[in-house]
Amino acid sequence: MIRFENVSKRYDTGQEALSRVDFHIARGEMVFLTGHSGAGKSTLMKLIMLMERPSHGQVLVGGRQTNRIRGAGIAHFRRDIGVVFQNHQLLFDRSVFDNVALPLQVAGFQVGDIGRRVRAALDKVGLLHKERQNPITLSGGEQQRVGIARAVVNKPALVLADEPTGNLDPELSAEIMTLFRQFNELGTTLVIATHDIDLIGRMNKRVLSLANGRVTSGAAPGGSQ
Ligand code: ADP
Repeated sequence: MIRFENVSKRYDTGQEALSRVDFHIARGEMVFLTGHSGAGKSTLMKLIMLMERPSHGQVLVGGRQTNRIRGAGIAHFRRDIGVVFQNHQLLFDRSVFDNVALPLQVAGFQVGDIGRRVRAALDKVGLLHKERQNPITLSGGEQQRVGIARAVVNKPALVLADEPTGNLDPELSAEIMTLFRQFNELGTTLVIATHDIDLIGRMNKRVLSLANGRVTSGAAPGGSQ
């Protein structure tokens, strides 16, 4: 699903964020990405989403060479990737329903279809009964679940989550991980960047570790390097 081949990323400042990174994430896997602050986790995610481009090497996503995806192809490519952020980036002047509907509206779905899909996504995260509320009236954990519903409403094959439990207490973090595990069991590939070593330890999934822009362990499916 995701393959990095000898990927390096140097920003214009001269900072080398990733150095000769090689790894493979198979379709249907759930993988944790970990490493110290500044290790290169966000840069790696941005390369997958085409928010940044490698300075060297090749990034393949879904069998496609991403360096060949340009212009209007980028928006089309991103439609198959759901993204969850720590600060969930919800619109507080719209209802929960409207927040989740946004990606479908952008993608040009029909109104009836939007209603069906949004309710299915809200049902999965246990928030169907709050669809008319404004997200500002929800707790932090509920807001994060709205963000997750929005990320999966399009039924993307791949979900990327960057510190999705960063602001949450351990119990809510575990709930969010249970949700991710359920999506994974339905076939979604997940890559979750987190500092939370305790949480990772309990999940029993592959851990891809970065330090100073290099992969230090977990590069291949099925365990060690
Ligand atoms: P992490 O997500 O693991 O904290 P990042 O990928 O954000 O790591 O950062 C990796 C390195 O690249 C850090 O040294 C950071 O300062 C640098 N960096 C990240 N983004 C940029 C940018 N847009 N311009 C210049 N340097 C950057």
